Amino acid sequence: MVWQNWARTASADPEVVERPGNDAEVAAVVRWAAARGKRVRAVGAGHSFTDCAATDGVLLSLDAINRVEHVGAAGADGSREVRVGAGIRLRRLCSELAARGLALENMGDIDRQSIAGAISTGTHGTGARLGGLATQVRALRLVTANGEIVETSPTRRPDLFELARLGLGVAGVLTAVTLRAVPAFELEAHEAPMPLGEVLESLLEPDGLVDSHDHVELYWWPHTDVAQTKVNDRRSSGAGPLHPVRRLIDDEVLSNGALALTTGLCSAVGALTPAVNNVAARALTERRYRAASHRVFTSPRRVRFREMEYALPRQAVVPVLEEIRSWLGRSGENVPFPIEVRFAAADDVWLSTAHRRETAYIAVHQTRWLPFARYFRAVEAMMAEHAGRPHWGKLHRLRADDLRALYPRFDDALTTRDAVDPGRVFGNTYTERVFGD
Ligand SMILES: Cc1cc2nc3c(=O)[nH]c(=O)nc-3n(C[C@H](O)[C@H](O)[C@H](O)COP(=O)(O)OP(=O)(O)OC[C@H]3O[C@@H](n4cnc5c(N)ncnc54)[C@H](O)[C@@H]3O)c2cc1C
Repeated sequence: MVWQNWARTASADPEVVERPGNDAEVAAVVRWAAARGKRVRAVGAGHSFTDCAATDGVLLSLDAINRVEHVGAAGADGSREVRVGAGIRLRRLCSELAARGLALENMGDIDRQSIAGAISTGTHGTGARLGGLATQVRALRLVTANGEIVETSPTRRPDLFELARLGLGVAGVLTAVTLRAVPAFELEAHEAPMPLGEVLESLLEPDGLVDSHDHVELYWWPHTDVAQTKVNDRRSSGAGPLHPVRRLIDDEVLSNGALALTTGLCSAVGALTPAVNNVAARALTERRYRAASHRVFTSPRRVRFREMEYALPRQAVVPVLEEIRSWLGRSGENVPFPIEVRFAAADDVWLSTAHRRETAYIAVHQTRWLPFARYFRAVEAMMAEHAGRPHWGKLHRLRADDLRALYPRFDDALTTRDAVDPGRVFGNTYTERVFGD
């Protein structure tokens, strides 16, 4: 079986593919592989843009380990710890939580990933007061390189916990994830096109758009002066009438049918891109709606694309957007895909892209019909000037030495890895590049 990831940027031909149904079966496969000198990688939904889950050894799919195992008692704030099988997809997780009056505090923009895959690459949503999914993890169960089943948390083997909660699977195969779930809530969404200049000005103000709302996201169409702002604010469930009708047109223009059409047209006739982007940006209208949080956070993504995303110190977001804008003007690069901007609070997860700094994310995309290398390299050079950290699951070219300079706890992560997997049972080409061996 040839395995391919979502963006079709990576493929590998694993020697063996296993679909274990419980921890003991995972442990048996790991022991079997280690005894024969074969390497092991776990795969979730294969939704990364890099080859992080690829292997020519044993590929483990945890799709069958996907149940809610335990729901803890409610804390003073109504939150509960929920333990789930590591292969559960976010879509099912959200509906299981909703059935219990619970929700994830923050999410990215799709729900196809597995919880293990999502935390292992530092998947995040947007919200200047909130962290990525790994910050919501309270405990983990995993199978280590010697086939042991181990429980870890901030108080039980805390170093292992750090590497396991965001470490591309190099600590072991995650089999269960305990998350902090919050009482279910609704989001009131306000989406509106705005002149780019006005948006950038507001990003510079201390109490501007980003700090005065719970979740703020921007889409800027290259070759235009228009950005679509997406602002979501929390409301407790049942706070008023619900408007469940999502912005169908906006979903189509930003992510689906209409985007497929416009990017296809622009790939064929590059000279049309500025005009098409202008039409697309102006097709997005102002609208408000309210729905359960996971329905507002996520939407379907049917158009395949390539993506690179970097985390920057928040104050760098405007200068970098200006640099990208100026480069696009100078280079004449054909970019029919919007650029996405999101925000996160500083956190303490060792390998989190928001580790110890207030963060802004800039993501550049390119349709798979057009070359992406020159564009992504130019943007990557700008990110380097501002100590940008690449998303672990999206395209980038950094290596261990570059990453060491960006993460104060990088060597702690490597030391922990040496202790739990000295033989590199859980290594692959990607981990060799980003961790050095
Ligand atoms: C359309 C699209 C939209 C996206 N939106 C966002 C977004 O809004 N925010 C964001 O931050 N990212 C986003 N991403 C990136 C995506 O969230 C990450 O790449 C995520 O890792 C994918 O999860 P997965 O289950 O597909 O993991 P995979 O790609 O299958 O695996 C990712 C990593 O996790 C490891 N892994 C998987 N399962 C286990 C396990 N059980 N134990 C140990 N290691 C394991 C793999 O070995 C690999 O290293 C998006 C990607 C796509 C394609």
